[in-house]
Amino acid sequence: MKIAIIGGGAGGLAAALACAGKAQVTIYEKEPRLGRKLLATGNGRCNLTNRHTDLTRYHGKNTAFAQYALEAFPPKKVEEIFASLGVATVLEDWGRIFPRSGQAQAVLDNLRLFLKLKGAEEMVDCPIKSIVPLKKGFNLISEKGKFFADKVIIASGSAAAPHLGGSMDSYRLLTDLGHQLVPVSEAIVQLKSSFGAIKALSGQKFNGSAQLIIDGRPQRKEDGEILFTDYGLSGLPILQLSASAIQSLNKKKSVTIALDLVPEYTLKEFCSFLTARKNQRSQIPLEDFLSGFFPKRIAQQLIKAAINAPLSRLSQSLTAEELAAIAQTAKAWQFPISGSMGFKNAQAASGGIATCDFYAETLESKIIKNLYTCGEILDITGDCGGFNLQWAWASGFLAGFSAAKNTV
Ligand SMILES: Cc1cc2nc3c(=O)[nH]c(=O)nc-3n(C[C@H](O)[C@H](O)[C@H](O)COP(=O)(O)OP(=O)(O)OC[C@H]3O[C@@H](n4cnc5c(N)ncnc54)[C@H](O)[C@@H]3O)c2cc1C
Repeated sequence: MKIAIIGGGAGGLAAALACAGKAQVTIYEKEPRLGRKLLATGNGRCNLTNRHTDLTRYHGKNTAFAQYALEAFPPKKVEEIFASLGVATVLEDWGRIFPRSGQAQAVLDNLRLFLKLKGAEEMVDCPIKSIVPLKKGFNLISEKGKFFADKVIIASGSAAAPHLGGSMDSYRLLTDLGHQLVPVSEAIVQLKSSFGAIKALSGQKFNGSAQLIIDGRPQRKEDGEILFTDYGLSGLPILQLSASAIQSLNKKKSVTIALDLVPEYTLKEFCSFLTARKNQRSQIPLEDFLSGFFPKRIAQQLIKAAINAPLSRLSQSLTAEELAAIAQTAKAWQFPISGSMGFKNAQAASGGIATCDFYAETLESKIIKNLYTCGEILDITGDCGGFNLQWAWASGFLAGFSAAKNTV
């Protein structure tokens, strides 16, 4: 029994591990080497799963689809599987799990070592152009020739990070065979802002929270370190909100990120704090009114955005209305969002192949028998923090085990 796996990323490698030894497994990879994206994960450290995995961490038209795979292969089980390959793991903050070695390379190397031991083959530099279902089995068409397989697992990933193997063509392998596509857009990516003074803030960062506002309506909020860049906003909270922001922009909705620079204060408390500060610093120009509390450039731009006053004015001249406006801006500083840094900088893609065309319990296609899929190609996108690799491993193992059933 021949099982072909298309794509040698996290999902494809997990699928291969699950069926190697039970069938004759070949991984077809378009790039010169396997796991290029895997090597880039977690800044080369590979945040391979997250102990806080649950469905609230996933997005898509039907996230309940992911439940079966995530319950069959929860983070603890994924860690056990890696331990059995010799990859020790450590727990870091927010439930994130990394290899103890601190190297994504160790994860890839050990997966490949075990696959080799189990007799799985790798065929690199071999993009599969199309899949032709036969009466029994499939032909895979590539520039290197035609390959036969009894079963196929499509693990060709998403459009994110084209320099690491991402491609819109990935989805075509399944859409050509009648599977539906949910519109794809970039996720886990930095956002561009049309805020006039954004360049003046570039390089500044603070710990606070970011709230997404769509067509004037407040949505999800995320806490953490936020970074101003010369194009807009970055940092974990922004990456977490990016998919919803981009999807809304694509639907021509207005998107704003409201930054709370002082989440530890209520609006009223911060207003009182500013009033007391004015009394303490009455002879100090506005230029330095808030320095020492915020980074200086943030302090100055905040005052400009709130009251548009000359910074040479003395703090004693601040009126109660102006203090209220500064407090209001510090609690919800509005940055209009105009776009993202694109697929090139995205760590994931939202949308993908519609889950309704697959069985959640096996990941086999409802349209074509003996055809399976896994990983990010599907319309399941995780938050930043190990959730996307967790989905790739869990769905990969499930697809591999399912395909290997009844192979003898
Ligand atoms: C910079 C970066 C950092 C990230 N960090 C993390 C992190 O720390 N933790 C986390 O959970 N997630 C992280 N992610 C996301 C994570 O890497 C992906 O969700 C995961 O790799 C998806 O696995 P996959 O197997 O579905 O796709 P991929 O890993 O993309 O693998 C798909 C493979 O298929 C190949 N392929 C595509 N088309 C064809 C074809 N026609 N024929 C043959 N081969 C083909 C591609 O070349 C690729 O090797 C990160 C992503 C990026 C870009």
